[in-house]
Amino acid sequence: MINTFRVILFLMYVGAITRSVAQTDVSPVTVSGGLLRKHVYFLASDSLRGRETGTDGQVKAANYCIRTFRQSHLIAPFRIDSVSATYRQFYAFTTTEVAPFGRTGVYDTKERYKLRELAPLPSTAEDSSRVQTAINVGGLLIGTDLKKEILVLSAHYDHLGCQGTRIFHGADDNASGTAVVMGVAAAFDSLAQLGIRPRRSVLFLLFSGEEDGLLGSRFFVYNSPVQLQQIKGVLNVDMVGRIDFQHKRIPDYCYLIGNEQANSFKKLADRANRQSVGLSLNREGYDTKNDPEFHFKRSDQYSFAAFGIPAVLFTSGSHIDYHRPTDTADRIEYNVLQKRATLIFQTVWAIANEGRE
Ligand SMILES: [Zn+2]
Repeated sequence: MINTFRVILFLMYVGAITRSVAQTDVSPVTVSGGLLRKHVYFLASDSLRGRETGTDGQVKAANYCIRTFRQSHLIAPFRIDSVSATYRQFYAFTTTEVAPFGRTGVYDTKERYKLRELAPLPSTAEDSSRVQTAINVGGLLIGTDLKKEILVLSAHYDHLGCQGTRIFHGADDNASGTAVVMGVAAAFDSLAQLGIRPRRSVLFLLFSGEEDGLLGSRFFVYNSPVQLQQIKGVLNVDMVGRIDFQHKRIPDYCYLIGNEQANSFKKLADRANRQSVGLSLNREGYDTKNDPEFHFKRSDQYSFAAFGIPAVLFTSGSHIDYHRPTDTADRIEYNVLQKRATLIFQTVWAIANEGRE
């Protein structure tokens, strides 16, 4: 949620609400820190049991995200038929090697779906026992004069589940990024309530299956409700709530890791950053060519980049609690999380309004 009061004051200060949205200065808008904290604490709570893809905890998380998207007046983007739409995109995947099903034609009897592979949605009870189904969540904010061009803001909301009594809470990985996507959507909604909308549309996506090999985002790019040519780019947020080993003394930072197609996005992010939160933006250590840990390939932006779509990852990097049960909500650095969320809001706004008049 933005600080609406400050925006109104600012607009009064400049004289009047500007006629063109492209001229609206939203630099005083911030993402609500209280909202981010609330989302992280809920998603990383014991009751969601680590949000493993295909489990009840993941479904609870999806339902929570959908409620939040509805409150932000986002539109359901996935069509059911010619009259109805939904916030949920279902897909199926294997949890063991199984005989293939659901395709027409004759199979080689030795053929098997590998472990953790996308599979057709089951249509019989027997097929359902062979796979698990999972959900991507989406919500759309319609733009103005360039509304057919779509900017994607995404995060994965799944995590590793439980091992016995040990819950992998995944507060940083990636309740933090999920909270940012929902917080940015709320900021856009607060502006929309004042009649201020971006020129391009923004599609907010929350993927599952990331920890199993980017399954949700891979399914999405092959089954997108909009043509991939309409997607101007993707900004993906994965692990933005902590401070890594290299930044103990400069905690106000964020990594931006993008492909070459996204170079203009990085320039817009630089400018948005200078005009708002002034974080130290670090691209050197995590550059695509210079990234020994392959961060760019390890999260959902890569599913889009594989199609040549401009793609940027926002992250604060790794830490001692990475993929451990100790990645808990009380260890998140909420102060800098809020600044990173604001930078991401300002960057999405800049890209969604950029360019030709
Ligand atoms: Zn992870």
